[in-house]
Amino acid sequence: MAAYELERLGHQIDIMEGSPRIGGRIWTHHFGDGPGAPYGELGAMRIPGDHEYVLHYVHAMGLGDRLCKFVTIFEEHNALLNIHGTVFRIQDAATQALQTRYRELFLDVRYSENTRLFAAWLKLIVDAIGSGELRECLEQDLSSHLMNKLEGLNLQPFFSPQGKTIDLHTFIKAHPDFREQCSEALNLFLGDILVETSHDLLQLQGGMDQLTNNLAKAVKGPIKCNQEVVALRVLEDGVEVSWIEAGRLHTRHCDYVLCTIPFSVMRKMELSGFDDDKLSAIYNIVYWPATKVLFHCARPFWQQDGIFGGASFSDEGIRQIYYPSIKDNSSQESVLMASYTIGNDAAYLGKMAEQDRNLYVQNALSKLHPEIRTPGMLLDMTTIAWGNHKWSAGGCSLSWNHQPYQEIARPQKTLFFAGEHCSKFPAWLQGSIESALQAVHNIIIHKPVTDQTTRSPLAPLGKPKTSLSLKTAI
Ligand SMILES: Cc1cc2nc3c(=O)[nH]c(=O)nc-3n(C[C@H](O)[C@H](O)[C@H](O)COP(=O)(O)OP(=O)(O)OC[C@H]3O[C@@H](n4cnc5c(N)ncnc54)[C@H](O)[C@@H]3O)c2cc1C
Repeated sequence: MAAYELERLGHQIDIMEGSPRIGGRIWTHHFGDGPGAPYGELGAMRIPGDHEYVLHYVHAMGLGDRLCKFVTIFEEHNALLNIHGTVFRIQDAATQALQTRYRELFLDVRYSENTRLFAAWLKLIVDAIGSGELRECLEQDLSSHLMNKLEGLNLQPFFSPQGKTIDLHTFIKAHPDFREQCSEALNLFLGDILVETSHDLLQLQGGMDQLTNNLAKAVKGPIKCNQEVVALRVLEDGVEVSWIEAGRLHTRHCDYVLCTIPFSVMRKMELSGFDDDKLSAIYNIVYWPATKVLFHCARPFWQQDGIFGGASFSDEGIRQIYYPSIKDNSSQESVLMASYTIGNDAAYLGKMAEQDRNLYVQNALSKLHPEIRTPGMLLDMTTIAWGNHKWSAGGCSLSWNHQPYQEIARPQKTLFFAGEHCSKFPAWLQGSIESALQAVHNIIIHKPVTDQTTRSPLAPLGKPKTSLSLKTAI
């Protein structure tokens, strides 16, 4: 995005990419060739409706008509919950699953039924989306003070009319101080939970990689893959970059460098001319692992259970299972996201060899969907452990371990920085783009193009398009 905007402002750019592919943590895996091949997302998959920078570029890259609703977790009430080996439907959570999983909570008669049920829902949501660390945070917060806080509130308006779910969004809007009563990590993560469970999420029909592929076509300067940057030296008159290509070490002098390499990778490189605070930010920023496993299936067997999107949840280590909510090809074949984990669950799965991980996921998935074991059902699979991935060494940076993002993004002379880790929206595409535009702004202030009026790339975005073309093809 930064390269595209710099070119539009009259600068000459050159992109060095270490891996053999472009896209980074946007990675659509296509099972087969051709436009109709079934696909799944190994990286980013949802675009929140208010992430205006992402939507701006989706439209700018001619992909507006490919936007359609992303059915998210807890939106499909026929989806399943595997709780301690017993499978429930989400629609039966309030009457059965929650009472089984959080038995101790329901036995605590000091609190009203509404308080216990609401707390159990909160636990289920954090269980399904959060990591083990966050699950513990909530556990501690509830037992120390949050149950008392909930007991003092009128929770009735936040249960759905049939009492089957809770509306966390309306609850947080009505009680914004509730988040501040949670431990810091949980408070910040609740922000992500609200986004991930929003009813206003979008996806790109055909795959998220259309965005990066179209962008690459729109950039005029060379984009060279297989150029692994191994050293960055900040000098008085520019930046020296060393990289390895085809086994040979090369070095070049650049006037300006914008580095979007994750700090988890950068800290393994040779860095010189950096100040101590900057080095401290690079070495200390914490990244969370994440894993995904995609199963290419002969047919969408989950539809027989009335599931047409959304996600199931299993407490047997595979956590979230996402179903496709769009049909993009004429064949019966379909791709199931058989497992999506973050944090300690991802660390556990990430340690396994790929084949073992796939078998583990297949086994856990079969408890919810025995059809996966039908001969000929599982055609192919693929997996990624972002924590071990050479080019990111982590899923995403952790917002609650962040120093102020302005400090993380702070340039070193003419070496500038961008990426999700440098933004106020870590772990989202919106953050990567916002930080890229900020970096472009900083570069053009530093080096105005002589034959053009200097204008900020943040300005031309203007107001986001409000009339998005939404297509739902469930
Ligand atoms: C599992 C998962 C799910 C996600 N889901 C969503 C979602 O639904 N919606 C959303 O908005 N966001 C989501 N995100 C976050 C989003 O994908 C990231 O925030 C974003 O893609 C990060 O972009 P970036 O440019 O900062 O980093 P990257 O995309 O990682 O780009 C960094 C680039 O640097 C390259 N590189 C690394 N080392 C070197 C080197 N030594 N030399 C040269 N090049 C190098 C890499 O190959 C890569 O191309 C998800 C992320 C993950 C991991």
